[in-house]
Amino acid sequence: MDAKETITAEARYIVPTYSRPDRVFTHGEGVHLFDAAGNRYLDFGAGIAVTALGHADEEWIQAVHDQAGRLVHASNLYHTVPHVELAQRLVESSFADRVFFCNSGSEANEAAIKFARKSVGVATGENSKTDILAFGGSFHGRTVGALSVTARPQYRDPFGPLMPGVTFEPFNDLGAARKAIGSSTCAVIVEPVQGEGGVHPAEIAFLAGLRDLCDDNQVVLVFDEVQCGLGRTGQLWAHEHYGVTPDIMTLAKPLAGGLPIGAVLVTEAVARSMQPGDHGSTFGAGPLVCRAAQVVFDRISGDGFLDSVRANGEYLRGCLRKLTDSRIVEVRGAGLLVGVEFNTSVTPLVSALAEKGLIVLNAGDNVLRLCPPLIVTREQIITAVGVMSESLNEW
Ligand code: PLP
Repeated sequence: MDAKETITAEARYIVPTYSRPDRVFTHGEGVHLFDAAGNRYLDFGAGIAVTALGHADEEWIQAVHDQAGRLVHASNLYHTVPHVELAQRLVESSFADRVFFCNSGSEANEAAIKFARKSVGVATGENSKTDILAFGGSFHGRTVGALSVTARPQYRDPFGPLMPGVTFEPFNDLGAARKAIGSSTCAVIVEPVQGEGGVHPAEIAFLAGLRDLCDDNQVVLVFDEVQCGLGRTGQLWAHEHYGVTPDIMTLAKPLAGGLPIGAVLVTEAVARSMQPGDHGSTFGAGPLVCRAAQVVFDRISGDGFLDSVRANGEYLRGCLRKLTDSRIVEVRGAGLLVGVEFNTSVTPLVSALAEKGLIVLNAGDNVLRLCPPLIVTREQIITAVGVMSESLNEW
């Protein structure tokens, strides 16, 4: 199928949940994507913060190739090696004692909700502590449970009734959170750095205060690090910037380098409440994705990798702050999750940048989001900011 046929057939056969530009990507290499017309793009979206090692990483390809020839799927009914080796890495590098694997960020948050409810129920001997506190600007996924704790009305309203017992308070407002937590609260779910909501880092006092509130009220603290976790912010886990640990952390996007995976990292206290049959997944923890994820994890946690993410993130933000455009309100973010807030919609700018060979994302209407593969170089950052400067002049 050529590009035109692909776009026509897509309009005929695919459920229209996305509005895509007229561009068909055919392959990628490192930080670059290529389309069917032979155009090359600097990929500062990384498939929405997924392809942390870039496209077509040699070591990752070798591992996937090798594992595909050995065992792709056996089922969670049986023991296999790669998910245990991956879980060991995640546990030994984090607050967690155990891991549950699934297939996406939404699924990880679904599991987190179930684990929180069960563990609080077991710990308190009550089945009335089921409510969840979430925050304005949050995004936790599209499945019904995850959507119920996602703030944006546009995503929620057509699909109600959603899960009851969810309250939203303003992000970074500890006083409001304190008032909202009551005897029926079971969990607080929060992104240490909000991604979809506009690239907003949490304040240190906010996350520390939530930890104290959860401890005082027998409430489980869930950090959704689906987008900001695994090196994206320049620390392995985004919450390391805060010196606060959760009871549950959800991961997904970058973990298997582009293959679908979700992970729920939990303390022993949470894990202890779960029994065989309480939760499961046909595809989760499959040998292929878990082997791929080991390559991603080892590279990101390897010597010097996070130093370079921190340095390049700072450099990128510094370059963006030098752009003199009166429509820019703020440049913010952590590591290589960077937001540029404008006083106007960024939709036309996202299209104009793509026309000039730079792929970026929006985060809400007014925020341009840059989240390149974590292997991005200084030279590539300089090129990207040059393209932005040129496009802003013409915009
Ligand atoms: N949580 C956060 C913070 C996200 O950014 C996303 C996706 O953007 C999700 C959850 C949902 O992940 P998925 O699309 O893999 O279901």
